[in-house]
Amino acid sequence: MSDNATVPGSARSGMVAVLGRPNVGKSTLINALVGFRISIVSPRPQTTRHRILGISSLPQGQLVYVDTPGLHAGGKRAMNRYMNRAAIGALEGVQAGLLVVEAGQWREEDERAFKVLADSPLPRVLAINKVDLVKDKSSLLPYLARVGEGRGFSAIVPVSARKGVGLDDLQRRLLELMPEGEPLYGEDEVTDRSERFLVAELVREQLMRQLGDELPYSSTVEIEHFEEEGRLLRLHAVVWVEREGQKAIVVGSGGERMRAIGQAARLAMEKLLGRKVFLQLWCKVRENWSDDEAQLRRFGYGD
Ligand code: GDP
Ligand code: MG
Repeated sequence: MSDNATVPGSARSGMVAVLGRPNVGKSTLINALVGFRISIVSPRPQTTRHRILGISSLPQGQLVYVDTPGLHAGGKRAMNRYMNRAAIGALEGVQAGLLVVEAGQWREEDERAFKVLADSPLPRVLAINKVDLVKDKSSLLPYLARVGEGRGFSAIVPVSARKGVGLDDLQRRLLELMPEGEPLYGEDEVTDRSERFLVAELVREQLMRQLGDELPYSSTVEIEHFEEEGRLLRLHAVVWVEREGQKAIVVGSGGERMRAIGQAARLAMEKLLGRKVFLQLWCKVRENWSDDEAQLRRFGYGD
């Protein structure tokens, strides 16, 4: 242990589990805190399927955020069980919990996420997200008082993940709760996930955004080929669906939908990785993959 670990005011570091009902903006918030799009975002619930770490290195220390799928009741399929395990496992080995809610709201599902945190011995912080949507800011004050009352939060911080409001304040309050110590990860690291994982997720993000209601939940993405040629990244990706009818929708008439998905995913990859990407996309059918443990492991949903 280095000498300065015991000096007051020296660097702090630790892990923060980010909890909250689906769609409150957990992944958007982590991306904003980390400064990279390490976790995909869409207007649909259950966009996040995995436990993903986002690393934020600051002059005063390091915060490692654990992004999670929202907990959901009644998950019978193997995929739902995987997501619930990822959500529950998020509290293991962390030093604090960050509950995210939407400004002006406290629904039953918010209360459920709060209870998960309140049942743990962890210090907890509340982030009130999406304050950019609140026209009359003075209406926030009674709301803050109401949701804070008797819930034992160490801090309550209004933020807008989308507009980057309140993030410094939030990180400062979280750092106060972290133990003194050396950073857990290298200062240039932003996530524990590989580039191969991130590019697959960026294709899945487009499935979540561009497809109709049922499809995103029956589809997943596998990177079959990942090759770096100098500054160019060459990828072959397969979109797996569960039925022929779904394939027809993903591909679209004359392959139009598939091209739009590939184009948007490629642009997001180039932006994230800062290099040229050549992406070839296929759609294939594997019946019932989302309820098949062996298939799930093959597609990266393994613990
Ligand atoms: P998660 O399910 O909690 O991870 O939520 P996501 O990060 O996927 O976000 C859900 C939706 O809320 C997306 O459409 C985001 O663009 C949107 N969103 C997230 N943060 C904000 C915010 O600060 N303001 C607004 N207006 N929208 C946001
Ligand atoms: Mg998410």
